[in-house]
Amino acid sequence: MYDVEKVRGDFPILSTRINGRPLVYLDNAATSQKPRSVIRAISDYYERSNSNVHRGVHTLSMMASEAYEEARAKVQRFVGAPEVESIIWTRNTSESINLVAASWGLSNLKEGDEIVATGMEHHSNLVPWQQLAGRTGATLKLISVQGDGTLDMGSAGEAITERTRLVAVTHVSNVLGTVNPVKDLAARAHNVGAVILVDGAQSVPHMPVDVVELECDFLAFSAHKMLGPTGVGVLYGRPELLEAMPPYMFGGDMVLRVTYEDASWNQVPYKFEAGTPNIAGAVGTGAAVDYLTALGMESVWAHEQRLTAYALERMCELELVTVMGPQDPAGRGGSISFSHEWIHPHDLGTVLDSMGIAIRTGHHCAMPLVRSYGVTALARASFYVYNNEEEIDLLIDGLKEAERYFTK
Ligand code: PMP
Repeated sequence: MYDVEKVRGDFPILSTRINGRPLVYLDNAATSQKPRSVIRAISDYYERSNSNVHRGVHTLSMMASEAYEEARAKVQRFVGAPEVESIIWTRNTSESINLVAASWGLSNLKEGDEIVATGMEHHSNLVPWQQLAGRTGATLKLISVQGDGTLDMGSAGEAITERTRLVAVTHVSNVLGTVNPVKDLAARAHNVGAVILVDGAQSVPHMPVDVVELECDFLAFSAHKMLGPTGVGVLYGRPELLEAMPPYMFGGDMVLRVTYEDASWNQVPYKFEAGTPNIAGAVGTGAAVDYLTALGMESVWAHEQRLTAYALERMCELELVTVMGPQDPAGRGGSISFSHEWIHPHDLGTVLDSMGIAIRTGHHCAMPLVRSYGVTALARASFYVYNNEEEIDLLIDGLKEAERYFTK
């Protein structure tokens, strides 16, 4: 049995009060809270092992290097990557995707080539491809989103052709909660000789993700959405691709030999990690991976699916509320975006905040998708390991209260 009360006890912030009420944190798609073990791992690192990595012969530097590399190995196992070299530390999902666009993209694309993304991408997995297309003369094509929030796989068949070089797709939509058929898209991409990049920002924290099983070439995700610290992201890349890619940034640690005129590059993954990395952040990410692994990702996913099903059921009570995305909770992620017939999302968010309930309102960094629903903003509740059904009841009560408030 998943013991959500025990999990809640591990998160100090959940015992704080917001506007005089216990915090109900439902903004997990934006960032997650951190368990005590992650906070401690970071402070322990600074108290006992702080030093720079890969440069020193002294004991502290070796301790820091070991902790940094151990965290990388934890991430490697977490996503089922066969080689530890295929895990690159970045700052966040956005940087991981930009790295691929700048490094792989600029050296592999030319006029006439095509990049295929979808109509439900976060700006982080759309704008870099727009820019890359502009710089290389390649064309960006989009797989369309159907009325029920799923991808139109017929349009995928038309979009992915012999000209496609890259398919970039989100695994789980941060707006709609849709879980996309990534394995199917990977097979279609590979059939035409293209590579596939999966934006795992909303999947890796929530469900078992295995890069070999998904057959993805690149996977990008952020530590801060999976109980880890801000300022740490991961890029998994297939080793042969990473080997052939030029560096994205230049400077310390990413070089092998430097003369006044020229330089050669360090091996993968260091070739992509210029400068002093976020060592404490990597250590904190390792602790977050340990925490999630102990819970078990199958259990995490099952817990979120139960919460999502309960929330969707209770939201049906609100006749003036429209939930976007798949209505069937089976196989859907726990990001629920919704609109109200006559209350603006920001007003909903403000009333809920006065009751200690944190939701997100706005375009959720997916402006074209949100605008396709004829609105400029949506409200979004999103769940994670520590949320419980009581909090969903409070959300529903809060939305009913907002309706009463705005009719006064
Ligand atoms: N992709 C998706 C699907 C996301 O939900 C997010 C974060 N909202 C990102 C990319 C970007 O993540 P980050 O801000 O950590 O770079």
